[in-house]
Parts: sequence; C-alpha cells; structure tokens
Amino acid sequence: MDLSNEAVIHIKTADTEYLQFRKLLEYKDAITHAFSLGKQVDFRTIKKSNYEKAMEDYEKLCKSLKLNKNNIVKPNQMHKDKIQNVERKINKEKPDIYIDIYSNTDGLITQEKDLILATTSADCILMIFFDPITKTIANIHSGWKGTYQQIGVKAVQKMIEDYGVNPQNLICCMCPSIRKCHFEVQKDVKDMFEEEFKEIVDSYAIIEEKQGVQGKWNIDTILLNRVLLQRQGLKLENIIDTKICTVCNSDILHSYRVEKEGFGLETAIIAKKGD
Ligand SMILES: [Zn+2]
Repeated sequence: MDLSNEAVIHIKTADTEYLQFRKLLEYKDAITHAFSLGKQVDFRTIKKSNYEKAMEDYEKLCKSLKLNKNNIVKPNQMHKDKIQNVERKINKEKPDIYIDIYSNTDGLITQEKDLILATTSADCILMIFFDPITKTIANIHSGWKGTYQQIGVKAVQKMIEDYGVNPQNLICCMCPSIRKCHFEVQKDVKDMFEEEFKEIVDSYAIIEEKQGVQGKWNIDTILLNRVLLQRQGLKLENIIDTKICTVCNSDILHSYRVEKEGFGLETAIIAKKGD
C-alpha cells in the first residue's frame, strides 16, 4: 500500500515507514518532519509498560531521518488547549517524554534547533506548523475536544505573540485523522459544535445528519479547523491536508475507533535542523 498523494509522500525503509508533506520538503534545509505509518511502531506503549519498545520505534524513525531520538520533547496530551514554548531539553541522555513541566499540554512551539517536537494520535488531528520567515515550528494535538477548544487557533495566536510570526506566511499541515466519513456524533456533541461555531457551521456544511440514521451526525473537523485557521490569516494554499482517514485506512494506520481498548498510536515529529 502506498498513501502518497498530491500532499504527501509515503516513504518506506527497511526499519520504518512514514509520510512527509511535499510542502514541508521544500524547506528540508531548515526542518525535518514525519508522520509514522505501518503499525510496526506502536507508540501507545509509551504510556503503558513497554516504554523500551516505544523508544526502539522512535529510534528507528529518528535514525531514518538523521535525528537523535534523545532530543524528542513530547507532552502528555490531555485533550485540552494548553500550548507551551520549548526553550531547551530537560533530560540530557533521554527524551523529554511526559515530563512534569509538559503535563496537561497538547501543543508545543519552538524556535530552537535540534529539538524534536512530538505528538501522537489514533484518529485525532495532529497539526504541524512551520513559518519559513521566523523559522518557528509547532506540533499540536487537536482531537474533537481540542478542535472545539480551538487549540489550532490558540497555537497560531501564541506564535504571533511570542515569536512574531505573520500568519500570512505560516504553513499548517494536517496529518491523517478520522474524517467526516467516519466521525459520527450524537445530539450532545452535535449541539455543542452547532452552538459554538454557528456562523461557520451554517455557511460550510460542517455538520451533516447521517444519511438514513436518526439521531446521528457527521462532523467535518478538518474543514472546521481549516476555516478557523483561515480566519486567523493563514492562506488557503498554506493549509495542507493529507485527505487520509485513519478509519478508512486502518490496515496501515492506528485508529481508536477501529482498535478500541487495545489501540495503538502514530506519531508526528518536526525538528529544526542544526547548523
Ligand atoms: Zn473514513
């Protein structure tokens, strides 16, 4: 299977497999990035007992990208809207994964070189940001709860305030996630979104009643995020979407909806290159 399309290239090596955004590859002298694929890397194990296995998986991915996995910084991701700036590594000889200062955090921003910002997901949207002018990078986890809290918008605002980013230059890449075809909600969640995003929802078909099923709706969280980002000043051509649904492609991608309790996680990483 090859998931390459106009937005992404599917890379396979002997050890690992990942997607890279064509748009970000235009800046490969400045940044390195990837979204893991293939399920041979089960990042869920970071959270559970098998930390070592997850570290081996990160090692393979990082090695293939010529990155040092000890430079990984990864927050614990609580489906909230807290975003933090990363100034430096805390641990010297191991990744900063789930360390206290990044608790309750769902997004990271930095201008520092060599730090690898990492997030994980199984259906949620991971958004990788890059500003080619100020060379600011960000990695944001936005599931439906994060989307509802507009974490993507808050990330853009934080990049503007803290790092002087002009949103007109900012690139946002949305990784594979659950899509409208499979993101089904009941009345409570539908009502929440309808109320919060009235104006947007009305003008863009973001919520649709599921055909032939009473009391179920499909929400297009990708489109909602895109519209929200455009309203922050991002250019349409700078908002890149893989158009890949994790549920539709659950043979190659982890999906919480498909795998249920035993679900695994894919990872998105981005790093600024050193001199
Ligand atoms: Zn789908």
